[in-house]
Amino acid sequence: MKSDIIIIGGGIMGGAAAYFLGVSGRAGTVSVIKPDPTYSKATTPAGASGVRRLMCRPENIRMSQFSLDFYANFQNVMATEHNPADIQFRRQGCLFLTSPRGADDLTRNFDTQRKEGVPAELLDVSALHAQFPSVGTDNTAFACHSPEDGWIAPKPL
Ligand SMILES: Cc1cc2nc3c(=O)[nH]c(=O)nc-3n(C[C@H](O)[C@H](O)[C@H](O)COP(=O)(O)OP(=O)(O)OC[C@H]3O[C@@H](n4cnc5c(N)ncnc54)[C@H](O)[C@@H]3O)c2cc1C
Repeated sequence: MKSDIIIIGGGIMGGAAAYFLGVSGRAGTVSVIKPDPTYSKATTPAGASGVRRLMCRPENIRMSQFSLDFYANFQNVMATEHNPADIQFRRQGCLFLTSPRGADDLTRNFDTQRKEGVPAELLDVSALHAQFPSVGTDNTAFACHSPEDGWIAPKPL
């Protein structure tokens, strides 16, 4: 079998590369070589599968924004007659806590995230406790909450 492009490994990276090359319409034939159809040796099904924009680099935040939009619409794009492609996407949010030592980093990242349009908010300890009473706040300076970040189920993906 001949292919214009061969991708070695079919986890999320190989799968996404194959998909986006395919829909570009300019890649010719694309094949994915996948020795383990059960995914027992892949990282992807073992991930926690948070799709968060609480990143520090603008490039990562933009990629996460793209992923978030893509996963939110995943079922509409990927469902077939025999596979509903339900990845259980939910906007459950993401919460980062910092100790006083990491406070500068979290503040700097928060500024970058806001500049990139992420609707994140900083919570001081009393606001954190009021919103998330089960979260321990020992040695916590404050938290960053991104309520519209998402989660998926990694195995159906
Ligand atoms: C506990 C945990 C939690 C995580 N939580 C998150 C999270 O919340 N959010 C997030 O974004 N990321 C998370 N990650 C990271 C994320 O899961 C990985 O970055 C991602 O799954 C990597 O995908 P991949 O396609 O590169 O690798 P893999 O999923 O490992 O796929 C690689 C594939 O290549 C195949 N392969 C390897 N060598 C060869 C070869 N020589 N020939 C052919 N095939 C080969 C393997 O069999 C495998 O199927 C988490 C990871 C872990 C472990």
